[in-house]
Amino acid sequence: EYTYRLDKASGVGLPKIPVHPIGYHDAESLLRNMGGYAPPHRSWKGNLNVSYNVGPGFTANYSTRSVKMHIHSHNEVTRIYNVIGTIRGTVEPDRYVILGGHRDSWVFGGIDPQSGAAVVHEIVRSFGKLKRKGWRPRRTVIFASWDAEEFGLLGSTEWAEENAKVLQARGVAYINADSSIEGNYTLRVDCTPLMYRLVYSLTKEIPSPDEGFEGKSLYESWYKKNPSREYKEVPRINKLGSGNDFEVFFQRLGIASGRARYSKNWNVEKYSSYPVYHSVYDTYEIVERFYDPTFKNHLTVAKVRGGLVFELANSIVLPFNCRDYASAVSNYAHIIYNLSRNHEEELATYNVSFDALFSAVKNFTEVADSFHERLQQIDIN
Ligand SMILES: [Zn+2]
Repeated sequence: EYTYRLDKASGVGLPKIPVHPIGYHDAESLLRNMGGYAPPHRSWKGNLNVSYNVGPGFTANYSTRSVKMHIHSHNEVTRIYNVIGTIRGTVEPDRYVILGGHRDSWVFGGIDPQSGAAVVHEIVRSFGKLKRKGWRPRRTVIFASWDAEEFGLLGSTEWAEENAKVLQARGVAYINADSSIEGNYTLRVDCTPLMYRLVYSLTKEIPSPDEGFEGKSLYESWYKKNPSREYKEVPRINKLGSGNDFEVFFQRLGIASGRARYSKNWNVEKYSSYPVYHSVYDTYEIVERFYDPTFKNHLTVAKVRGGLVFELANSIVLPFNCRDYASAVSNYAHIIYNLSRNHEEELATYNVSFDALFSAVKNFTEVADSFHERLQQIDIN
Protein backbone atom coordinates (compact mmCIF):
# COMPACT_ATOMS: atom_id res chain seq x y z
CA GLU A 1 0.00 0.00 0.00
CA TYR A 2 0.94 3.67 0.13
CA THR A 3 2.28 3.78 3.68
CA TYR A 4 5.44 2.70 5.47
CA ARG A 5 4.79 -0.14 7.91
CA LEU A 6 6.76 -1.62 10.77
CA ASP A 7 6.80 -5.40 10.84
CA LYS A 8 4.75 -7.01 13.61
CA ALA A 9 7.76 -7.90 15.75
CA SER A 10 8.80 -4.26 16.14
CA GLY A 11 5.27 -2.96 16.80
CA VAL A 12 4.92 -1.31 20.21
CA GLY A 13 2.05 -2.23 22.51
CA LEU A 14 0.76 -5.27 20.66
CA PRO A 15 -0.32 -7.91 23.21
CA LYS A 16 1.85 -11.05 23.28
CA ILE A 17 -0.64 -13.21 25.22
CA PRO A 18 -4.01 -13.97 23.57
CA VAL A 19 -6.75 -12.20 25.56
CA HIS A 20 -10.47 -12.93 25.43
CA PRO A 21 -13.32 -11.74 27.67
CA ILE A 22 -15.55 -14.38 29.28
CA GLY A 23 -18.86 -14.11 31.13
CA TYR A 24 -19.17 -13.47 34.87
CA HIS A 25 -20.59 -16.92 35.60
CA ASP A 26 -17.73 -18.77 33.85
CA ALA A 27 -15.14 -16.52 35.45
CA GLU A 28 -16.50 -17.17 38.92
CA SER A 29 -16.44 -20.97 38.62
CA LEU A 30 -12.90 -20.92 37.20
CA LEU A 31 -11.61 -18.56 39.90
CA ARG A 32 -13.31 -20.53 42.68
CA ASN A 33 -11.25 -23.65 41.91
CA MET A 34 -7.98 -21.96 41.08
CA GLY A 35 -4.96 -23.51 42.84
CA GLY A 36 -1.29 -22.59 43.00
CA TYR A 37 0.11 -19.45 44.55
CA ALA A 38 -1.80 -16.94 46.62
CA PRO A 39 -2.13 -13.47 45.03
CA PRO A 40 1.07 -11.44 45.59
CA HIS A 41 -0.79 -8.28 46.62
CA ARG A 42 -4.24 -7.46 47.96
CA SER A 43 -4.86 -5.26 44.92
CA TRP A 44 -5.07 -8.48 42.88
CA LYS A 45 -8.23 -9.46 44.79
CA GLY A 46 -11.70 -8.57 43.60
CA ASN A 47 -15.01 -8.66 45.46
CA LEU A 48 -15.94 -12.32 44.93
CA ASN A 49 -15.75 -14.65 47.91
CA VAL A 50 -12.85 -16.70 46.43
CA SER A 51 -9.13 -16.96 47.16
CA TYR A 52 -7.95 -15.33 43.93
CA ASN A 53 -5.07 -17.82 43.70
CA VAL A 54 -3.06 -17.27 40.53
CA GLY A 55 -2.33 -20.90 39.59
CA PRO A 56 -0.85 -22.79 37.87
CA GLY A 57 -3.67 -25.36 37.75
CA PHE A 58 -6.67 -26.01 39.94
CA THR A 59 -7.14 -27.06 43.59
CA ALA A 60 -6.68 -30.72 44.57
CA ASN A 61 -10.27 -31.85 43.80
CA TYR A 62 -10.06 -30.34 40.34
CA SER A 63 -6.33 -30.77 39.67
CA THR A 64 -6.88 -33.11 36.73
CA ARG A 65 -9.16 -30.66 34.94
CA SER A 66 -8.17 -28.30 32.19
CA VAL A 67 -9.98 -25.57 30.27
CA LYS A 68 -10.25 -25.52 26.51
CA MET A 69 -11.18 -22.27 24.76
CA HIS A 70 -11.92 -21.89 21.06
CA ILE A 71 -11.20 -18.33 20.00
CA HIS A 72 -11.91 -17.29 16.44
CA SER A 73 -10.21 -13.92 16.13
CA HIS A 74 -7.93 -13.02 13.27
CA ASN A 75 -5.10 -10.59 12.78
CA GLU A 76 -5.22 -8.64 9.54
CA VAL A 77 -4.37 -5.31 7.98
CA THR A 78 -7.59 -3.59 6.94
CA ARG A 79 -8.77 -0.18 5.75
CA ILE A 80 -10.46 2.25 8.15
CA TYR A 81 -12.34 5.47 7.34
CA ASN A 82 -12.35 8.81 9.16
CA VAL A 83 -14.97 11.27 7.94
CA ILE A 84 -13.81 14.90 8.20
CA GLY A 85 -15.82 18.07 7.54
CA THR A 86 -14.70 21.68 7.92
CA ILE A 87 -16.21 25.15 8.11
CA ARG A 88 -13.52 27.63 7.20
CA GLY A 89 -13.06 30.49 9.67
CA THR A 90 -13.41 34.06 8.47
CA VAL A 91 -10.85 35.91 10.62
CA GLU A 92 -8.47 33.16 11.77
CA PRO A 93 -8.90 30.38 9.16
CA ASP A 94 -5.56 28.83 10.20
CA ARG A 95 -6.73 28.21 13.80
CA TYR A 96 -8.62 24.96 14.38
CA VAL A 97 -11.35 23.96 16.83
CA ILE A 98 -12.11 20.25 16.51
CA LEU A 99 -15.20 18.26 17.49
CA GLY A 100 -14.59 14.51 17.13
CA GLY A 101 -16.08 11.20 18.18
CA HIS A 102 -15.90 7.59 17.07
CA ARG A 103 -18.38 5.70 14.88
CA ASP A 104 -17.26 2.06 15.22
CA SER A 105 -18.72 -0.09 18.00
CA TRP A 106 -18.30 -3.50 19.64
CA VAL A 107 -21.75 -4.78 18.67
CA PHE A 108 -24.77 -2.50 18.03
CA GLY A 109 -23.31 0.41 19.98
CA GLY A 110 -26.64 1.98 20.93
CA ILE A 111 -24.93 4.05 23.63
CA ASP A 112 -21.21 3.62 22.85
CA PRO A 113 -20.78 5.41 20.47
CA GLN A 114 -24.04 6.11 18.58
CA SER A 115 -25.59 8.24 21.35
CA GLY A 116 -22.53 10.44 20.80
CA ALA A 117 -22.31 10.15 17.02
CA ALA A 118 -25.98 11.24 16.74
CA VAL A 119 -25.15 14.32 18.80
CA VAL A 120 -22.24 15.17 16.47
CA HIS A 121 -24.66 14.91 13.52
CA GLU A 122 -27.11 17.30 15.20
CA ILE A 123 -24.35 19.79 16.02
CA VAL A 124 -23.16 19.64 12.39
CA ARG A 125 -26.76 20.17 11.27
CA SER A 126 -27.20 23.23 13.49
CA PHE A 127 -23.88 24.75 12.39
CA GLY A 128 -25.01 24.07 8.80
CA LYS A 129 -28.25 25.98 9.44
CA LEU A 130 -26.30 28.98 10.69
CA LYS A 131 -23.96 28.74 7.72
CA ARG A 132 -26.86 28.76 5.24
CA LYS A 133 -27.99 32.02 6.85
CA GLY A 134 -24.58 33.48 6.02
CA TRP A 135 -22.84 32.91 9.34
CA ARG A 136 -19.21 31.80 9.49
CA PRO A 137 -17.11 31.06 12.58
CA ARG A 138 -14.16 33.28 13.39
CA ARG A 139 -11.82 30.22 13.49
CA THR A 140 -12.01 27.07 11.38
CA VAL A 141 -14.20 24.30 12.84
CA ILE A 142 -13.33 20.68 12.03
CA PHE A 143 -15.90 17.90 12.58
CA ALA A 144 -14.51 14.37 12.72
CA SER A 145 -16.14 10.93 12.78
CA TRP A 146 -13.36 8.54 13.84
CA ASP A 147 -13.11 4.90 12.86
CA ALA A 148 -11.45 2.07 14.86
CA GLU A 149 -11.56 3.71 18.30
CA GLU A 150 -12.35 0.36 19.88
CA PHE A 151 -9.24 -1.18 18.29
CA GLY A 152 -6.85 1.20 20.09
CA LEU A 153 -7.88 4.78 19.19
CA LEU A 154 -6.53 4.09 15.70
CA GLY A 155 -8.58 6.50 13.55
CA SER A 156 -8.03 9.64 15.64
CA THR A 157 -4.38 8.79 16.32
CA GLU A 158 -3.55 8.18 12.64
CA TRP A 159 -5.23 11.44 11.59
CA ALA A 160 -3.58 13.50 14.33
CA GLU A 161 -0.17 11.96 13.61
CA GLU A 162 -0.55 12.75 9.92
CA ASN A 163 -1.39 16.38 10.80
CA ALA A 164 0.76 16.67 13.94
CA LYS A 165 2.87 19.66 12.86
CA VAL A 166 -0.09 21.82 11.83
CA LEU A 167 -2.21 20.77 14.82
CA GLN A 168 0.54 21.45 17.35
CA ALA A 169 1.12 24.93 15.95
CA ARG A 170 -2.48 25.93 15.22
CA GLY A 171 -4.87 23.58 17.04
CA VAL A 172 -6.88 25.64 19.53
CA ALA A 173 -9.06 23.02 21.21
CA TYR A 174 -10.45 19.50 20.86
CA ILE A 175 -13.90 18.50 22.16
CA ASN A 176 -14.56 14.76 22.34
CA ALA A 177 -17.95 13.27 21.56
CA ASP A 178 -18.20 9.60 22.53
CA SER A 179 -21.33 8.22 24.36
CA SER A 180 -23.66 11.06 25.32
CA ILE A 181 -25.02 9.09 28.28
CA GLU A 182 -23.77 6.60 30.86
CA GLY A 183 -26.69 7.36 33.18
CA ASN A 184 -29.48 9.92 33.53
CA TYR A 185 -28.63 11.60 36.83
CA THR A 186 -26.50 14.65 36.07
CA LEU A 187 -23.85 16.17 33.81
CA ARG A 188 -20.26 14.91 33.88
CA VAL A 189 -17.40 16.99 32.47
CA ASP A 190 -13.70 16.09 32.22
CA CYS A 191 -11.50 18.87 30.82
CA THR A 192 -8.34 20.94 30.99
CA PRO A 193 -8.44 23.55 33.78
CA LEU A 194 -8.17 26.18 31.02
CA MET A 195 -11.83 25.47 30.19
CA TYR A 196 -13.36 25.41 33.71
CA ARG A 197 -14.80 28.92 33.47
CA LEU A 198 -16.07 28.42 29.94
CA VAL A 199 -17.90 25.23 31.03
CA TYR A 200 -19.40 26.98 34.07
CA SER A 201 -20.59 30.05 32.15
CA LEU A 202 -22.00 27.93 29.32
CA THR A 203 -23.94 25.55 31.61
CA LYS A 204 -25.52 28.57 33.34
CA GLU A 205 -27.12 29.40 29.96
CA ILE A 206 -28.51 25.89 29.33
CA PRO A 207 -31.81 24.76 30.96
CA SER A 208 -31.61 21.72 33.24
CA PRO A 209 -33.37 18.61 31.86
CA ASP A 210 -33.69 17.12 35.38
CA GLU A 211 -36.97 16.52 37.18
CA GLY A 212 -37.42 18.99 40.02
CA PHE A 213 -35.22 21.60 38.33
CA GLU A 214 -37.82 23.10 36.00
CA GLY A 215 -36.88 26.70 35.17
CA LYS A 216 -33.38 26.18 36.64
CA SER A 217 -30.09 26.03 34.76
CA LEU A 218 -28.03 22.93 34.02
CA TYR A 219 -25.32 24.48 36.21
CA GLU A 220 -27.70 24.59 39.19
CA SER A 221 -28.83 20.94 38.99
CA TRP A 222 -25.25 19.80 38.28
CA TYR A 223 -23.88 21.74 41.28
CA LYS A 224 -26.66 20.48 43.56
CA LYS A 225 -26.07 16.83 42.56
CA ASN A 226 -22.29 16.79 42.27
CA PRO A 227 -20.45 19.69 43.97
CA SER A 228 -16.66 19.93 43.65
CA ARG A 229 -14.54 18.59 46.49
CA GLU A 230 -11.52 20.71 45.56
CA TYR A 231 -13.09 24.09 44.87
CA LYS A 232 -15.78 25.98 46.74
CA GLU A 233 -19.30 26.39 45.40
CA VAL A 234 -18.86 25.01 41.89
CA PRO A 235 -19.86 21.66 40.32
CA ARG A 236 -17.21 18.97 40.07
CA ILE A 237 -15.06 18.75 36.93
CA ASN A 238 -12.71 15.77 36.56
CA LYS A 239 -9.23 15.53 35.09
CA LEU A 240 -9.03 14.11 31.57
CA GLY A 241 -7.82 10.55 31.78
CA SER A 242 -7.22 8.39 28.76
CA GLY A 243 -8.85 5.62 26.75
CA ASN A 244 -10.65 7.80 24.24
CA ASP A 245 -10.02 9.78 21.06
CA PHE A 246 -8.90 12.94 22.87
CA GLU A 247 -5.76 11.12 23.96
CA VAL A 248 -3.60 11.98 20.96
CA PHE A 249 -4.75 15.61 20.99
CA PHE A 250 -4.44 16.25 24.73
CA GLN A 251 -1.71 13.89 25.96
CA ARG A 252 0.49 13.81 22.88
CA LEU A 253 0.03 17.12 21.04
CA GLY A 254 -0.81 19.25 24.10
CA ILE A 255 -4.04 20.73 22.73
CA ALA A 256 -6.63 21.97 25.24
CA SER A 257 -9.33 19.29 25.38
CA GLY A 258 -12.59 18.41 27.08
CA ARG A 259 -15.51 15.99 27.10
CA ALA A 260 -19.07 16.07 28.48
CA ARG A 261 -21.87 13.53 28.87
CA TYR A 262 -24.87 12.69 31.06
CA SER A 263 -23.83 10.39 33.90
CA LYS A 264 -25.01 8.34 36.85
CA ASN A 265 -24.86 9.04 40.58
CA TRP A 266 -21.32 7.83 41.30
CA ASN A 267 -21.94 7.75 45.09
CA VAL A 268 -24.51 4.98 44.63
CA GLU A 269 -23.56 3.30 41.36
CA LYS A 270 -20.04 2.02 41.95
CA TYR A 271 -19.54 -0.04 38.77
CA SER A 272 -17.40 1.46 36.03
CA SER A 273 -19.18 2.89 32.99
CA TYR A 274 -22.76 1.44 32.66
CA PRO A 275 -23.94 -2.18 33.05
CA VAL A 276 -24.44 -3.09 29.35
CA TYR A 277 -21.25 -1.26 28.19
CA HIS A 278 -19.51 -3.00 25.25
CA SER A 279 -22.02 -5.86 25.33
CA VAL A 280 -24.64 -7.20 22.92
CA TYR A 281 -27.27 -5.47 25.12
CA ASP A 282 -25.98 -1.96 24.32
CA THR A 283 -28.82 -1.20 21.89
CA TYR A 284 -30.92 1.70 20.64
CA GLU A 285 -33.87 0.10 22.45
CA ILE A 286 -32.25 0.41 25.87
CA VAL A 287 -31.67 4.12 25.22
CA GLU A 288 -35.20 4.81 24.02
CA ARG A 289 -37.02 2.66 26.59
CA PHE A 290 -34.97 3.23 29.72
CA TYR A 291 -32.13 5.77 29.65
CA ASP A 292 -33.56 8.76 27.82
CA PRO A 293 -37.09 8.20 26.37
CA THR A 294 -37.60 11.85 25.39
CA PHE A 295 -33.92 12.35 24.45
CA LYS A 296 -33.81 15.44 26.67
CA ASN A 297 -30.42 14.40 28.09
CA HIS A 298 -29.03 13.90 24.59
CA LEU A 299 -30.29 17.39 23.69
CA THR A 300 -28.60 18.85 26.78
CA VAL A 301 -25.29 17.16 25.95
CA ALA A 302 -25.58 18.44 22.36
CA LYS A 303 -25.97 21.97 23.74
CA VAL A 304 -22.91 21.58 25.95
CA ARG A 305 -20.64 20.06 23.28
CA GLY A 306 -21.95 22.34 20.52
CA GLY A 307 -21.84 25.40 22.80
CA LEU A 308 -18.20 24.71 23.70
CA VAL A 309 -17.25 24.42 20.02
CA PHE A 310 -19.20 27.59 19.18
CA GLU A 311 -17.54 29.68 21.92
CA LEU A 312 -14.05 28.31 21.23
CA ALA A 313 -14.42 29.02 17.51
CA ASN A 314 -16.12 32.37 17.82
CA SER A 315 -14.94 34.30 20.91
CA ILE A 316 -12.65 37.21 19.99
CA VAL A 317 -10.29 36.32 22.85
CA LEU A 318 -9.97 32.57 23.45
CA PRO A 319 -12.14 31.68 26.47
CA PHE A 320 -9.26 30.08 28.39
CA ASN A 321 -8.22 30.99 31.92
CA CYS A 322 -4.50 30.54 32.58
CA ARG A 323 -4.88 31.42 36.27
CA ASP A 324 -7.12 28.39 36.76
CA TYR A 325 -4.48 26.32 34.98
CA ALA A 326 -1.80 27.68 37.32
CA SER A 327 -3.79 26.92 40.45
CA ALA A 328 -4.59 23.38 39.21
CA VAL A 329 -0.93 22.73 38.40
CA SER A 330 0.06 24.00 41.85
CA ASN A 331 -2.54 21.65 43.35
CA TYR A 332 -1.14 18.66 41.41
CA ALA A 333 2.43 19.54 42.48
CA HIS A 334 1.42 19.58 46.16
CA ILE A 335 -0.42 16.26 45.81
CA ILE A 336 2.69 14.63 44.29
CA TYR A 337 4.89 16.20 46.97
CA ASN A 338 2.65 14.93 49.78
CA LEU A 339 2.60 11.42 48.28
CA SER A 340 6.38 11.44 48.11
CA ARG A 341 6.57 12.05 51.89
CA ASN A 342 5.60 8.39 52.35
CA HIS A 343 8.96 7.44 50.83
CA GLU A 344 11.46 9.61 52.73
CA GLU A 345 14.20 6.97 52.56
CA GLU A 346 14.06 6.59 48.76
CA LEU A 347 13.89 10.38 48.34
CA ALA A 348 17.16 10.67 50.29
CA THR A 349 18.84 7.69 48.55
CA TYR A 350 18.09 8.99 45.06
CA ASN A 351 18.54 12.63 46.02
CA VAL A 352 15.10 13.68 44.78
CA SER A 353 14.29 17.38 44.94
CA PHE A 354 11.02 19.17 44.19
CA ASP A 355 12.68 22.59 43.90
CA ALA A 356 12.59 22.69 40.10
CA LEU A 357 8.91 21.66 40.02
CA PHE A 358 7.80 24.27 42.54
CA SER A 359 9.95 26.94 40.88
CA ALA A 360 8.28 26.18 37.52
CA VAL A 361 4.83 26.36 39.15
CA LYS A 362 5.74 29.73 40.69
CA ASN A 363 7.00 31.12 37.37
CA PHE A 364 3.92 29.94 35.51
CA THR A 365 1.59 31.40 38.16
CA GLU A 366 3.27 34.82 37.89
CA VAL A 367 3.19 34.85 34.10
CA ALA A 368 -0.47 33.75 34.08
CA ASP A 369 -1.33 36.57 36.52
CA SER A 370 0.36 39.26 34.48
CA PHE A 371 -1.13 37.88 31.26
CA HIS A 372 -4.67 38.16 32.65
CA GLU A 373 -3.95 41.64 33.97
CA ARG A 374 -2.86 42.74 30.50
CA LEU A 375 -5.94 41.05 29.06
CA GLN A 376 -8.11 43.47 31.06
CA GLN A 377 -6.64 46.38 29.08
CA ILE A 378 -7.61 44.94 25.69
CA ASP A 379 -10.39 46.67 23.78
CA ILE A 380 -12.31 43.75 22.27
CA ASN A 381 -14.72 46.02 20.43
ZN1 LIG B 1 -16.68 4.60 22.79
